[in-house]
Amino acid sequence: MARIIREAMSDTHNLDPANISNQYRYQNVYGHGTVRCKTCSHSWSSYISWIKVDLKKCRLAHRFQQKCQSCETANTPAFKTEELERMIKLTIARVISLMNGTYDNTGTNNLNDRQLDAPHDSDRCEKCAYGKGRPCYE
Ligand SMILES: [Zn+2]
Ligand SMILES: [Zn+2]
Repeated sequence: MARIIREAMSDTHNLDPANISNQYRYQNVYGHGTVRCKTCSHSWSSYISWIKVDLKKCRLAHRFQQKCQSCETANTPAFKTEELERMIKLTIARVISLMNGTYDNTGTNNLNDRQLDAPHDSDRCEKCAYGKGRPCYE
């Protein structure tokens, strides 16, 4: 994980983790994750699987959990390496535009780059506060 983040920073942008300002250190980003329930083995995938990245320490700070539709156990999604790389690159591009003042949060959010293939299950999404918070994809 640290290697993916460091390489995305240095290869693409010549960016040093030490130069990330503290206010942008933690970034949430979503992508395609898969889950296999640790209790009942039911498996599913979601295009809105969230992680929180710590760009200073080059690590995953948090993986937001999703509850199983069959047994309601909260599980942690897994990501393919290529998908993590894509998500990290998006995150770093966003932080760079935040730091140099070109970030445009009006109109389309450039993180919403995939059409949803199914309604998002907010009641089972930690990032949505399990249906009690604002929908995570808005
Ligand atoms: Zn289950
Ligand atoms: Zn959600």
